[in-house]
Amino acid sequence: MFSFVDKDLHQIYEKIQSNTRLTFEDGLKLFQSHDLLGIGKLALLVKEKLHGSKVYYVFNRHVNYSNVCLNLCKFCAFGRPPGHKEAYELSIDEILQKLEPSSGKIREIHVVGGLHPYLPYEYYLNLLQAIKTRFPEAQIKAFTCVEIDHLAKISGKDVQEVLLDLKKAGLSCLPGGGAEVFSERIRQKLCPQKITGKRWLEIARTAHKLGIPSNATMLYGHLETYEERLEHLLALRELQDETNGFLCFIPLPFLPQKSYLRKEIAPTTGFEDLKMIAISRLILDNFPHIKAYWVFMGIKLAQVALHFGANDLHGTVLEEKISEFSGKEENKALSRQEIERLIREAGFKPIERDALYQEV
Ligand code: SF4
Repeated sequence: MFSFVDKDLHQIYEKIQSNTRLTFEDGLKLFQSHDLLGIGKLALLVKEKLHGSKVYYVFNRHVNYSNVCLNLCKFCAFGRPPGHKEAYELSIDEILQKLEPSSGKIREIHVVGGLHPYLPYEYYLNLLQAIKTRFPEAQIKAFTCVEIDHLAKISGKDVQEVLLDLKKAGLSCLPGGGAEVFSERIRQKLCPQKITGKRWLEIARTAHKLGIPSNATMLYGHLETYEERLEHLLALRELQDETNGFLCFIPLPFLPQKSYLRKEIAPTTGFEDLKMIAISRLILDNFPHIKAYWVFMGIKLAQVALHFGANDLHGTVLEEKISEFSGKEENKALSRQEIERLIREAGFKPIERDALYQEV
């Protein structure tokens, strides 16, 4: 029997032991509690029931093909308007060169960018085909639901047709970004041009029904309330009950340093980041994996998060422009040896996976 500093956590412990689903009210109690170690113990219990001592990572590369974006969301330090001196777009050849690994087989290639007004639909299909031809063992995880909506608009096709075209060109799964916080109140304030939360969920549903799994994210630590975080998690849980198409949930701490909001909002604390990981593990009882995304969280905190419910430490990465533009000063690459050491030193067993969480 566990003991908790916050006695309210006992009730949640009993629910977890009896496999009773946590409610919105349980989630609020968790967010309002300061017993971080107690919440962490609960999340670790759930994680170990699901995965034992396994912690996953992937030998991967990220490609941000362009930062040109029509949306210009207030929290985003990556997007640039067309013609801006820092705007860029990469040719397919440049992308292939960037992807050349120093050693070892790449298992996952993560491709995302802004909503570019002029790149033609064929660019996206040709890009996937070229990557697949050059790296046949790699699975391509590409384009958020926001980009899929943009591709539907520029091609004049519906989302289902776009997804089928991309699948034919080599797409394995969708990454999960663009979800931000589903709350319309927040979207109106921070990203009024972006698709609604409802549309994001609808596109994820369509992908799952076509046999294209996806991840899901939540950007937290800006203007949202705990209630809005919970509504987001519960909407994902409900869709997962219906489709079982989500592989992983990735809580993303907001990085305000270079955004329009840097004067108004302070970065999240380690306490909040660990609590968010743990509560995600507890509420999303039907999600197989919770990721500690070291690119945003920092490597050291992501390692600690393995004791707070995370069972995936993401990957080797090499280059990632979104956090770089956001001012995150971190290594942009981890070797297999480094990532395995982080996992082993935390007391877990490193397991290399592919983009679909199959062990390799
Ligand atoms: S968050 Fe995405 S859609 Fe919004 S400005 Fe940045 S790149 Fe564009």
